[in-house]
This record gives sequence, C-alpha cells and structure tokens, in this order.
Amino acid sequence: MNALTETCGAQRPGFEGRPHIGINSLPCFLGTDHEGCHRNAWGQSWERVPVPDVNVPDVVCVACGNPTGAPIEIGYVERVSGPGYVQHVCPDCLYERPALPTPSEQLRAM
Ligand SMILES: [Zn+2]
Ligand SMILES: [Zn+2]
Repeated sequence: MNALTETCGAQRPGFEGRPHIGINSLPCFLGTDHEGCHRNAWGQSWERVPVPDVNVPDVVCVACGNPTGAPIEIGYVERVSGPGYVQHVCPDCLYERPALPTPSEQLRAM
C-alpha cells in the first residue's frame, strides 16, 4: 500500500505562506506528486500555478519592465555611489522595440 506520507502543501495564489487558518489558506492535501488541480481538505480545488525556475535570475527588461528569462545585455550604467549595474532587455524588445504609447494613444485605448 502506498500511503500518502507527504502532502503537496501548496496554498492558493495570494495565500502562500499564510498560517493555515481559514478556508482559503488551507494547503493542498494531495500527494506531492499529484497531477491536476490542487485540493484542500474542504474539497476546494484550484489550478496549479507553474513554479518559476528558481535558477533563472530575476532580470527585468529595461524597455518593457517585464522579467525575462533570457536577458540580453545592452549596456552598463555607472553610479557615483556603489557599483554600477548592467542593463538588460528581453529578446522581444531587442528585435522589436515597441515605441512607448503617447498619452493620446493611451486615451484612445481606454
Ligand atoms: Zn497540490
Ligand atoms: Zn522587454
């Protein structure tokens, strides 16, 4: 018999790390290798959120502001105090750098 000795323990998005108090904070009680949605002891289920690869550094694209897993170095910024830092863009912005929308365009989009 394959008793479940360990549980997945995942919590709902937004409730990670909260004390296991309240229906929304209850962790998933399924096995660590379960498939599909998480489920807690109350019978609630929620979708599994892919866990980001912890090996990928959280580099933010300077053009679009989104974190990218494949940063491309475009420059180095010197700072008077402390070390400088390298600027990165994501592949999308490198090849197709979108022009920032003008305020009038933003208004039209709304
Ligand atoms: Zn789970
Ligand atoms: Zn970008």
